[in-house]
Amino acid sequence: MDRIEFFRQIEQAIPRDRMPDIEKAVAFAEKAHSGHRRLTGEEYVEHPLRIALILADWKLDSETIIAGILHDVIEDSDFQAEDIRKEFGKNVTFLVEGVTKLGRLVYQGRERYAESLRKLFIAMSSDVRVIMIKLADRLDNIKTVSVFNKEKRTRIARETLEIYASIANRLGMGEVRGQLEDLAFPIAFEKDYQRLKETVSETYEQQQKYVKKIIPYLKKLLNDAGITVVDIHGRAKKLYSLYKKLQKYDHDLSRIHDLVAVRIVVPDVASCYMALGAIHGEFTPIKGRIKDYIAQPKPNGYRSLHTDIFGLDNKIVEIQIRDSEMHHAAEYGIAAHWHYVETGKPKKGTPVKKRLEWIHDLIQWQKSMQDNDKYIQGLRIDVFRNRIFIFTPGGDVIDLPENATALDFAYEIHTDLGNHASQAKINEKISKLTASLQNGDIVEIIEDKHRKGPARDWLPFVQTEKARSAINGWLRKQQ
Ligand code: MN
Repeated sequence: MDRIEFFRQIEQAIPRDRMPDIEKAVAFAEKAHSGHRRLTGEEYVEHPLRIALILADWKLDSETIIAGILHDVIEDSDFQAEDIRKEFGKNVTFLVEGVTKLGRLVYQGRERYAESLRKLFIAMSSDVRVIMIKLADRLDNIKTVSVFNKEKRTRIARETLEIYASIANRLGMGEVRGQLEDLAFPIAFEKDYQRLKETVSETYEQQQKYVKKIIPYLKKLLNDAGITVVDIHGRAKKLYSLYKKLQKYDHDLSRIHDLVAVRIVVPDVASCYMALGAIHGEFTPIKGRIKDYIAQPKPNGYRSLHTDIFGLDNKIVEIQIRDSEMHHAAEYGIAAHWHYVETGKPKKGTPVKKRLEWIHDLIQWQKSMQDNDKYIQGLRIDVFRNRIFIFTPGGDVIDLPENATALDFAYEIHTDLGNHASQAKINEKISKLTASLQNGDIVEIIEDKHRKGPARDWLPFVQTEKARSAINGWLRKQQ
């Protein structure tokens, strides 16, 4: 990648005075990865530089961009976290370490695993920028996935759909979600993708043509009503979301009205409702198909008006109406926030606080969700406030309360393992069983089969009910 062009693009996204640090980070990464090549044959450093450009494009702040440049340094070079800290400070180091820890996880296609991962991602939302870097990383990696054999390719692609795309969606990053799904779907479900493409291609084309015809008509209608149209375009439904929707609708394509929708962007909220009124004045809306996501945003913050109308020739088409700010938020979601923090200039219209409200709402909403919704439960943030996530050497994730010790970890895995535990290995270092664990530690319990059982003096050191009652139960039996 041309470095001059690289710096030029970054410069557009962040304050000028942060550029020296960016240059320093690039030099650091070049040194750290020097001599390394990717399976594609290119110099390794090209990959982190592309990540930095993606993050800049998402309008993230300079710390995140620097962490993006350095994101593989701990994992793939001789440099340590300490080296990064000395040069770039603790925030950047925190982000790089966060990304490195997430990198250790291995997806095995099991739902329980996916749950753990989702939980972990959200737990890391103490700084959600870690997840942004991870999403950018995946976006770049999925593009070169063809270097792997079919099995590995498929696994990575499914993981991308099930975990990364769903997290992007949860964070309101619709554009990113769409990109991830577009790239991963054909690899993850090769045959289904081909079949779907063949079935829908004709309908798609007809619908595209129809939308092209109706757009000038709608534009004139709105202009005549005195409404400014910032943008109006056809938006084709992405194949993967169509694929999922068809599964819900008995594979009946005729029931899907948003194959190609018309998206109208207007200057402000009032214009949204005026536009809706003008359109309904001309075309009959389908009953029960008007959705006001402005008054009631989706949980991920999505706002727009949707309506299905009988358009020209009485053909059904979905219309989506939003203002420029909603449009931007729908594409970039939570990522949009950091930009304003750093540049200190919120886009005119809505104050920063307002912008953050939907994140707050998202958290509130998750709190109020019923426990029986397993998927949602996996994403609840409040539950993880006081939890830490500990890894087994195999990459499995165990969640424990804060201040939990290696003993809690052992009992969480199995009562027998707790009862026969003799030592712990924490991040490869031999440690006491009573040692407190930190979020992200990798822990292995060393057993002593000759050991009779737990010790009474373990009791003050355990945090979980499970460990406490196992120890007490054993002690009672001995008496
Ligand atoms: Mn990477």
